[in-house]
Amino acid sequence: LMQLSIPLNFIGFIYREIRQGLTDIEEMFTLLDVPEEVEDRPDAAPLAVTAGAIRFENVRFRYEAGREILKGISFEVPPGKSVAIVGPSGAGKSTLSRLLFRFYDLESGRITIDGQDIARVTQSSLRAAIGIVPQDTVLFNDTLEYNIRYGRMEASEAELRQAAERAQIGRFIELLPEGFATRVGERGLKLSGGEKQRVAIARTLLKGPSILVLDEATSALDTHTEQEIQSALDEAARERTTLTIAHRLSTIVAADEILVLKAGEIVERGSHAGLLEAGGLYAEMWRMQREATEAEEALRRARAAD
Ligand code: ADP
Ligand code: MG
Repeated sequence: LMQLSIPLNFIGFIYREIRQGLTDIEEMFTLLDVPEEVEDRPDAAPLAVTAGAIRFENVRFRYEAGREILKGISFEVPPGKSVAIVGPSGAGKSTLSRLLFRFYDLESGRITIDGQDIARVTQSSLRAAIGIVPQDTVLFNDTLEYNIRYGRMEASEAELRQAAERAQIGRFIELLPEGFATRVGERGLKLSGGEKQRVAIARTLLKGPSILVLDEATSALDTHTEQEIQSALDEAARERTTLTIAHRLSTIVAADEILVLKAGEIVERGSHAGLLEAGGLYAEMWRMQREATEAEEALRRARAAD
């Protein structure tokens, strides 16, 4: 029995070590959500971002034969403006952001950035132009500095600090005994969901892309933490073309346009006030979220009173 348990432990140990080694590669893929197939065209040119205008023109898409996920989507995000996409789970919201990165090719229609079809530019230039703060931030098993610099490795020390500051994680980092050299992840400091998101925001701020995609960037957080990081996100979105896929409607009230997506179609569009007035799906979602938030707050007050 002894003889058997030692090798098994050893195998477990080796396995964990290998897994640790692999984690970074795995995480990178999760981070980028990279599928296979899409290739640059032989004549692909680098994307030349000028103003940062995004256009979806009658976009149709399916992951697999038979089931159409997006059924003719058209909208525009003018330079520096912010468009929010809301709608039930499974509506196709995240798919829109994956298509903007050209992780998949369209069935028909076109997506352009500053008039250039994204299917005709190099993928590296496309992805360099867009920053994303994803739903679940995965950090590398490395230092805070590495995790933030990943946005732009050659950034200066001052730029690194400034990005952390603007993402409202600077003070937190300065107070750590090892500061930016603190290791995070499985073998390092465990960060809360809100702290991880702020690291991701700092990374994006350092990258400084013309276009920003926020995919339910705050949905993993409680309402309180969400409010705290919202200002960091607003800071990141300022003067950038921003596409926000929103979970909590309270975060997108100020969007220039809100699109309501349902089963792959835009069923309503307009400003927050206009959509409330229209009394459709958006107004209904708003009412339900208000009630849920109020219930959550009542619960918190009741707990605090205990
Ligand atoms: P949302 O972000 O609005 O919740 P998604 O864009 O993630 O929705 O997904 C839209 C639909 O596409 C869902 O029905 C989902 O199951 C399906 N889907 C998402 N990713 C894939 C995939 N890689 N392969 C097949 N179907 C997928
Ligand atoms: Mg989604």
